[in-house]
Amino acid sequence: MTQLPLPYQPTNDPTFATTAATTFEVDDTYEGALVVSGPCPRCGALLEVSVFESIVRSAGGQPSGPVLIVCDCADQHPGRPENRRGCGAYWNVIL
Ligand SMILES: [Zn+2]
Ligand SMILES: [Zn+2]
Repeated sequence: MTQLPLPYQPTNDPTFATTAATTFEVDDTYEGALVVSGPCPRCGALLEVSVFESIVRSAGGQPSGPVLIVCDCADQHPGRPENRRGCGAYWNVIL
């Protein structure tokens, strides 16, 4: 796949959330934690984010609110600060 490297840019595009809602999977294989995985809607890198269930679910198992997902890929994105990972994309998901 030939693709020019995307520049690092903190971005919260509304399409990220809608895209991720269809492409991301949620696993609750870990004790008390959810693993959210799927391709970053901006750069396409595969992401795997662990979220503590107690943070996103209230006692009845209902979602308690959106969770912020931030791309933390290890790909090259020009302009990225040295201590950062990812392409800068972030979005909210309701788990
Ligand atoms: Zn990304
Ligand atoms: Zn990336």
